[in-house]
Amino acid sequence: MPALTLSWPQPQVALLTFDLPGKRVNLLSRSVLAEFAEKLELLNQRPGVAGLILTSGKPDAFFAGADITEFSAALHKPKSEVYEHSRQGQQLFAMLSQLEYPTIAAIDGICLGGGAELAAWCDRRIFSSNAKTQIGFPEVKLGLIPGWGGTVRTPRLVGLANALQMICGGESLSARAAMQMGWGSDLVPAEQLLPAALRILAEEHRTRAYLKDRERLQRPLELHPTEADFLRSMATVRIQEETKGQFPAPQAALELMLATQGMPAEQALELESERMTELFGGLVNRALVNVYFLTDYNKRQAGEGSDQEIRSIHALGVIGAGIMGSGIAAAGVKSELPTTMIDAIPLALEKGTRAVIEEVAFDKHTKQPDAERALRFAPLLHTGSIEADLAATDLVIEAVSEVAVLKRQVFSRLESAVSPETILASNTSSIPITKLAASLQHPHRFCGIHFFNPVRRMKLVEVVRGEKTSDATVASVVAFVKRIGKMPIVVNDGPGFVVNRMLSAYLNETLELVLEGVSLREVDQAALDFGMPIGPIALYDLVGIDTAIQVGRTMYESFSGLVKISPIIVAVYKAGRYGIKTGEGFYSYKNKQGVAQDDPEVEKILARYRGEIRHYSAEQITQRLVLSMLLEAVRVLDEGIARNPRDIDLGLIYGLGFPTFRGGLLYWADTLGLPQILKLLEDWSSIPRMQPPASLVERASRGERFYELGAGPA
Ligand code: NAD
Repeated sequence: MPALTLSWPQPQVALLTFDLPGKRVNLLSRSVLAEFAEKLELLNQRPGVAGLILTSGKPDAFFAGADITEFSAALHKPKSEVYEHSRQGQQLFAMLSQLEYPTIAAIDGICLGGGAELAAWCDRRIFSSNAKTQIGFPEVKLGLIPGWGGTVRTPRLVGLANALQMICGGESLSARAAMQMGWGSDLVPAEQLLPAALRILAEEHRTRAYLKDRERLQRPLELHPTEADFLRSMATVRIQEETKGQFPAPQAALELMLATQGMPAEQALELESERMTELFGGLVNRALVNVYFLTDYNKRQAGEGSDQEIRSIHALGVIGAGIMGSGIAAAGVKSELPTTMIDAIPLALEKGTRAVIEEVAFDKHTKQPDAERALRFAPLLHTGSIEADLAATDLVIEAVSEVAVLKRQVFSRLESAVSPETILASNTSSIPITKLAASLQHPHRFCGIHFFNPVRRMKLVEVVRGEKTSDATVASVVAFVKRIGKMPIVVNDGPGFVVNRMLSAYLNETLELVLEGVSLREVDQAALDFGMPIGPIALYDLVGIDTAIQVGRTMYESFSGLVKISPIIVAVYKAGRYGIKTGEGFYSYKNKQGVAQDDPEVEKILARYRGEIRHYSAEQITQRLVLSMLLEAVRVLDEGIARNPRDIDLGLIYGLGFPTFRGGLLYWADTLGLPQILKLLEDWSSIPRMQPPASLVERASRGERFYELGAGPA
């Protein structure tokens, strides 16, 4: 089945429509490129053609970019092949700019990556006013730069500053923003794209302006050296801020475009292929491709028994209007779900309602509250004070204080207030789901839906199945979580489920290191250098020392006896230092800027508990932190708490902020090689909790990895 059809909307005007059979979007795979080359060849041989229009047969999608599955298969190919593929793509697209007649890309829907490059090689681009129409170069998000002329055509089309913003930042532009930047010749309703394209072709024939532009686009940009220097320093600061020096592609794109802007296009193209080839298949590129596949895998997962009847959620109920409850209610309302939130304390309900309205009214583009949004969403939020107010809901999520007795009372009232089909769920972070379900009459329709704080920012949600939770409940909740734009991973019941259990192991190791003499700053710095978004000590202060002890207690007790509550945290707590909220925790925040400062009082506390001081290198500190999480991950897999290794990596990336440029914790271990991991663990063999579980040793001896980079099971 061909992906491209050639038609003639006017006798001499060719229309090439991309419509990849069996796919939701168009992708620039090798076969599509080959077909495109054939069609261009065919057109070249045909006399009298007056114009060519490129368009897509897919609704809302011009091109989604390269075919990533094909792309990942090429990660192992020799560099020479990667370079050749880039050069061939450039040469193929360049044919568009050498035809004897004008060419137009008529873009409706997303136009990304290779698709944006294809459009950039056309003489003109027109956009539909469809809200989904966007143009962008997301290559840096995969650790790459555009390699089919994007870095050469874009600065020459829209100016270097705009090109740097698009290519180094990797964010897409709306059609309107793209027009303002100078990408497009027209912005029309989707059904007007073809007439607009025909009109522009006629105009180009009259003015011959496209020929002048073709010449200009071949030439170097005439940029004053001062301007180039200014752009370099501005962009470098921004890139450093965003990447912390850990993602090489944006800086590589910046350096490349600064170097090639003063060259003729042909020379610049060669350099683009060279730089792209250098990045392709590198550690960061592979890690980010792995993260892409992890999220893609997650999208395809439907929960347990995907053939189960899924209960659609038409009305959501939330109990508790605190930090989490109001965040969950806002997520429901933003997804256009009628949501009823109740709280036992009127003041708390008032505060929570205000928080929901503020959040749903916030426009992330203008970064301002938006009255129109508030008016649209506010009618979807209902409030109440008792469980009976939730009678008409299909799913109720409980988010009251973390006290088992309280939660059980709530559920017993709730069960008699709602229909037996209503799904009941708890947002508990540490109480076993099976324990909460014990007194329910219908425990099969009960599960955990564990959101992370702050709900609006954290994508991950753990869907926790208790012993009696039914497959249909899990499948329905997975569908609901996806509907509100979050990423569900299904986990089995156990203290801390998956993510908080990893976090506990990591935080526990942090305090063990401190006990052994490592300074608070050293341990935080080691975590930051590894790529964690915040150091573990700073995280303790952020979460609150009191909360950490409270949640920690439930987990420590169940933690295979390998970890304990550190005397340090108890002493800090007893000193009345609860973290940022009280101005003092492990660090002191009692200064004008409220930044973390070392505090001699804490040093005195630490000195009381430290025994013999050991000296560790930064690398050793990192090893202890990361290996402790890795060992916990293996135990979580062994115990069947996580269903598969991919879910652990997703959980850590989207629940804890594990660095994407490392691809995930288990992916990181696979990359290092499990025999190497065992070797590193030998250095710590005197510590019982650092002993490798038998399954890890066996996996290493069989030469296996946790999982292979790629699409994963269906
Ligand atoms: P919170 O103290 O901010 O809110 C709890 C709310 O529940 C309060 O408004 C309180 O008035 C209300 N409440 C108490 N008893 C009630 C009852 N019987 N009926 C109705 N409302 C009642 O707490 P939070 O931080 O939002 O945590 C709520 C739950 O979410 C806990 O189980 C917690 O473990 C879990 N959780 C918290 C976080 C976090 O970081 N805060 C993260 C994940 C999960």
